[in-house]
Amino acid sequence: MPGRLQYKSALITGAGSGIGLESSLLFAQEGANVLLVDISQTAVERTAALVQERFPDIKALACKADVGNEAEVKAAVDLAVKEFGRLDVMFNNAGIMHPKDDHALNTEEHIWDLTMTINVKGVWYGCKHAILAMRQNPVDETKGLQRGGSIINTASFVAIMGAATPQLAYTASKGAVLAMTRELAMVHAREGIRLNSICPGPLKTPLLMDFLNTAEKRDRRLVHLPMGRFGEAIEIAKGALFLASNDSSYVTGTDFKVDGGLTSCY
Ligand code: NAD
Repeated sequence: MPGRLQYKSALITGAGSGIGLESSLLFAQEGANVLLVDISQTAVERTAALVQERFPDIKALACKADVGNEAEVKAAVDLAVKEFGRLDVMFNNAGIMHPKDDHALNTEEHIWDLTMTINVKGVWYGCKHAILAMRQNPVDETKGLQRGGSIINTASFVAIMGAATPQLAYTASKGAVLAMTRELAMVHAREGIRLNSICPGPLKTPLLMDFLNTAEKRDRRLVHLPMGRFGEAIEIAKGALFLASNDSSYVTGTDFKVDGGLTSCY
């Protein structure tokens, strides 16, 4: 059976760990050539090697870049287009949660600025350069390739509900991702460019586990999870694959929740 991303190319940020790592493997399994971006050269090279080893027929390239730096994001998009001839899927997934952020009364300006630079401006840069590239995608009816593409931006459940452990800058940044994604989705809908946010619930990845760094903190969080467990990165990657593929051809501007029911829970 042909893969759901056959003949396509995808750029995934934050590919060195967690959701980005699992998405890199899954998108490659579904036939996409993948340009893998992370601020950690070691981590992204490890992911690219793993993808290439498991799926030798596809191309997997590692690119060290900081999504908070527009020139580096543009260079990564340009590299994908140069190497693969097109960009069909942009997964703006990289994000940070500063361990020292807390709430309005004691978060600090430099924490706020760093969080906004990576989580908000990073997504904006990714959208901007992906849109410019997707407009130029060559059409090939025989392979089902169209102009346009799919852009997926990682937000969070905290963009929808108030978190019990406040991370003010992080929460505000993820709300901005939802708002920006909706607006861009409306502006570019008629160009065949779909934009959606994905909202993961709490996951067993370094980002959250480093924050909930004691058994007591994790147990306190688990009480509030309807399924009684943290999510796995692969469960988010599967949601992202749906948004990346033509299976979601009539889906744009949505906040796609993959959160184990958390945001529906009282
Ligand atoms: P993770 O820490 O496992 O992976 C994040 C990756 O992003 C790392 O490899 C890191 O090196 C990379 N990265 C960090 N800053 C970067 C930058 N400036 N440029 C390029 N790469 C950078 O985290 P994860 O859990 O897979 O998180 C991925 C996304 O999911 C983030 O946007 C995060 O906010 C979001 N999210 C995570 C959770 C959770 O519980 N883990 C919940 C909701 C949303």
